[in-house]
Amino acid sequence: MNNKQVLESCTVLDIHDFKKGLNRAKNGYENSAGTWDGLLYFINRIEGEVWLSIEDSKQHILMSEKDIRFGTRYFLTCECGRLVNKLYLPLDGKKYICRHCVQRPYELTTINRHSKHGELLYRTNRMIKLSKVRGRVKRMFHNGSFTKGFTRYLHMCDKAGFKNEVTEANKLLSAVSG
Ligand SMILES: [Zn+2]
Repeated sequence: MNNKQVLESCTVLDIHDFKKGLNRAKNGYENSAGTWDGLLYFINRIEGEVWLSIEDSKQHILMSEKDIRFGTRYFLTCECGRLVNKLYLPLDGKKYICRHCVQRPYELTTINRHSKHGELLYRTNRMIKLSKVRGRVKRMFHNGSFTKGFTRYLHMCDKAGFKNEVTEANKLLSAVSG
């Protein structure tokens, strides 16, 4: 296959398909969902960053805001760091990547493992896991101290580097017990 055929065989994710969800994000909503190509999609704001995820895919795509001539606009962020309007899922691929990465697949593994994007991805995955743990904890307090479940959750937050969560919880605890 030549380059053009390779691109044409991909599933295309276009930023314009998510306008509705992005407008909600711009208007301050933390989460929104919709359908895309028969699949559900979710747009979540996590620590100020906007992320797109598509049903059935483990990938979380950072939506980067960038200044353009008239205000700001969102772009899809490829793992290589490029901001683009379209990402492509190759026929045998598991991830949506930019046109450049589709055509030059070996570059992807050599750059940016420690990029801002890579770091954010790690943090987001941790956050998603943590919020699931948090969801299972029914009670924060028992007899004026943290419940076992909540203590475990805080310990995980601490290890993952979310110190703020721990500080806030401790403040709450002293308010409750004091
Ligand atoms: Zn790329």
